[in-house]
Amino acid sequence: MVTGAAGFLGSHLCDRFIAEDFHVIGMDNLITGDLRNVAHLFKLPNFEFYQHDVSKFVHVPGQLDYILHFASPASPIDYLQIPIQTLKVGSLGTHNLLGLAKSKSARILVASTSEVYGDPLVSPQPEEYWGNVNPVGPRGVYDEAKRFQEAMTMAYHNVHGLETRIVRIFNTYGPRMRLNDGRALPTFIAQALNGDALTIFGDGTQTRSFCYVSDQVEGIYRLLLADYALPVNIGNPDEMTIIDMAQEIIEATGKRSNIVYHSLPIDDPKQRRPDISKARRLLHWAPVVSREEGLRRTIEYFRTLPQEELKRKDF
Ligand code: NAD
Repeated sequence: MVTGAAGFLGSHLCDRFIAEDFHVIGMDNLITGDLRNVAHLFKLPNFEFYQHDVSKFVHVPGQLDYILHFASPASPIDYLQIPIQTLKVGSLGTHNLLGLAKSKSARILVASTSEVYGDPLVSPQPEEYWGNVNPVGPRGVYDEAKRFQEAMTMAYHNVHGLETRIVRIFNTYGPRMRLNDGRALPTFIAQALNGDALTIFGDGTQTRSFCYVSDQVEGIYRLLLADYALPVNIGNPDEMTIIDMAQEIIEATGKRSNIVYHSLPIDDPKQRRPDISKARRLLHWAPVVSREEGLRRTIEYFRTLPQEELKRKDF
């Protein structure tokens, strides 16, 4: 069972588990998701979909072997608009799914985030770093929901012996990202494809690292099947500045957009880069898709979207 199945990562996970011959139950309340992401799966006999809010009681009939809890608004634009739902799905939603896992004797993997490190004071961030989070800042609703999620998951593991996994996901990109989710990469791609100027917040020297979605899904799949309950970072350690990324996107789209600068939002992390030694050692995992290839596939996807979506200016 995959929660957040109609979202970006959830839909790719559904595809992966279907490809591995699982029977997949997708669950989503569509608050930030899009049914188009799973439309191709509806005709399959081994895919079921429930439209349901996992912050409310969750029940599904029959046996469950694995639960992947990916339901949560994930981009700043979303969780700033729906802060209470974000806190609820990370807390109540996680609690409901841990309860479901316990009742079905299923293994559960929860989607945590590099945001648990906040604006990190060490770089790259190993799993042992406790983070630098402002609980009452605008991003606190997401960061603290995910920190609570991790704590609750470990408590179920320790108290009930539940089989739990925690993945700390670093920025991931690829087809099915939402154009207007406010994140730099889809925004830049849409702006470049429209021939508009690319907007950088701050001076563009802040860094991010971007993991292509198939690499992320492979890491999650391996972690689910591994025997390790503590959090594991999955991301690409190849760090770059936002300004370099903007330039790469302009080049990859073959357009001639300019770059314009706006002031930096509050609590925007200045750097983010995963230490993936643990994933390498435990899962024998490392990213394999180059940025050039990843960007090519992502831009190709954005080009297939209806023009009116690309032209919308709400990103
Ligand atoms: P997304 O917004 O594309 O997908 C999230 C999905 O969850 C959406 O389909 C949404 O409708 C659904 N959802 C939200 N609240 C729900 C609820 N209460 N009940 C049922 N469904 C609900 O986001 P994404 O990028 O695919 O992120 C998926 C997960 O991965 C999230 O938990 C997010 O925190 C985590 N994550 C993602 C990234 C990334 O780079 N994409 C990075 C770190 C962590």
